[in-house]
Amino acid sequence: MASEPIPLARPVLGEAEEQAVIDVLRSGQLSLGPRVAEFERAFAEMVGARRASAVSSGTAGLHLALRAVGVGDGDEVVTSPFSFVASANAALFERARPVFADIDPLTLNLDPHAAAAAVTERTRALLPVHIFGYPADMEAFDALAARHGLGIVEDACEALGGRYQDMRDIGQRENPAVFAFYANKQMTTGEGGMLTTGDAAVKERVDSERNQGRAPDMDWLDHDRLGFNYRLSDIACAIGLVQIGRLGTTIPARRRVADLYREALDATEGLTLPCEDQGRAQRGWFVFVVQLPHGVERDETIRALAARGIQSKPYLPAIHLMSFYRERFGHREGEFPVCEDVAARSIALPFFPEMSEGQVDRVAGELQSVLARAPA
Ligand SMILES: *Cc1c(COP(=O)(O)O)cnc(C)c1O
Repeated sequence: MASEPIPLARPVLGEAEEQAVIDVLRSGQLSLGPRVAEFERAFAEMVGARRASAVSSGTAGLHLALRAVGVGDGDEVVTSPFSFVASANAALFERARPVFADIDPLTLNLDPHAAAAAVTERTRALLPVHIFGYPADMEAFDALAARHGLGIVEDACEALGGRYQDMRDIGQRENPAVFAFYANKQMTTGEGGMLTTGDAAVKERVDSERNQGRAPDMDWLDHDRLGFNYRLSDIACAIGLVQIGRLGTTIPARRRVADLYREALDATEGLTLPCEDQGRAQRGWFVFVVQLPHGVERDETIRALAARGIQSKPYLPAIHLMSFYRERFGHREGEFPVCEDVAARSIALPFFPEMSEGQVDRVAGELQSVLARAPA
C-alpha cells in the first residue's frame, strides 16, 4: 500500500551538470565569463533564433523585453489574465498598466478579438503568453500590432519546444520572446531566462541593461544608460548548456507522458483535457492541466489527491482577481468570464519527463476515484 508520493515536477539532472558546475568553479570565472555567450549561441541555434541574451530569470527577461519595445510610464500593455503573475507584473515595473482581455476557451491563450477590443490610444505593446506551452495566435497579433503600431513581446516561459502555426519553432520571430529556466520548466539553470530576438539593436540594449547599463566596449565602472543586475552567472549557463543537450530526449519524453495521460483520462466524464494541437501548431509540453467538471470543489479535490500521495495545485489563478490587482486596479469577478471559469476549475497534475506509465495510471485512477465520490 505504501506507494511513493508523486511530485508535481522533477528536473532531469545528472553527473554532466555536476561536472559542468565544478569546471566553472575551478576556472575562477563565475560570472561575465565564456559560458554566457556559449549558452546564448547554443540556445539561439536550438530554437533557430538569430540572437539570444541570457538573463537572471524569465521575469527579468520580460521586463527588459518590454523596455526594448518602448513600453514606459503611462503606457498600456494588453495581455492575458490567465498566466503566471510575472507577465502582468513586468509592465508595472515600468509604470505601465497591464490591460487584460479574455482568453480563448479552447487554447486558453489571449483571444485576439478580445485583445483588439482592449486596445486604446495609450496601448504600446501586446504581451501574448503561450500558456501551458500552446502557441498563441501570432498571425492575429501581428495584424493587430501592425494596425495600431504596437510592439509585441512573447511570454514563451512555458513554451520551449513548441511551434507556431507557420511551423517555425517558438522563439524564431523578429520580436522578443522570453524563456525561463526555473526548476519546473522544460530545462533549468536553477533560476534563469533567455530573451530571443531578430533585432541586433534589441540584443545590444538588453545586454547592456542586464549589466547595469554598460556598453560592451566600456570599462567596469562606466555606464551610459540606466541598467539592472539581471545577469546569469557562468555557473548557471554551464548547467544550461548541458540541459540543452538533454532536450532531444526530455521533450519527446514529455510528449509521451502527455499522450499517456490523454489515453488514461479521455473518457472521464466532465473533465476537460489540454486541447489537441490545432492545424500545424504544436504545443511545447510544460504542464498537464485539466479543468475539473463544473460543480466539483477544486481545493477539496487537491486535498483528496494529496491524501493519496499525489501532488497537484490550482493552475493558474486569474491574475486580475489576485488581491494586489483587485486593490490596485479595482478588478472584480465577471470581467473576464472565460478566464474566471477556467481558472476556478484548473489543476496541474504531476508531469515530468521521467514519469512512468504506472505513475500516470496511478494519478489518473486516483483522480477518477476522487471525482466519482465528489458530490455533483
Ligand atoms: C515561469 C514563468 C514566468 C517567469 O519565469 P521566472 O524565471 O520564474 O521569472 C513568466 N511567465 C510564465 C507564463 C511562466 O510560466
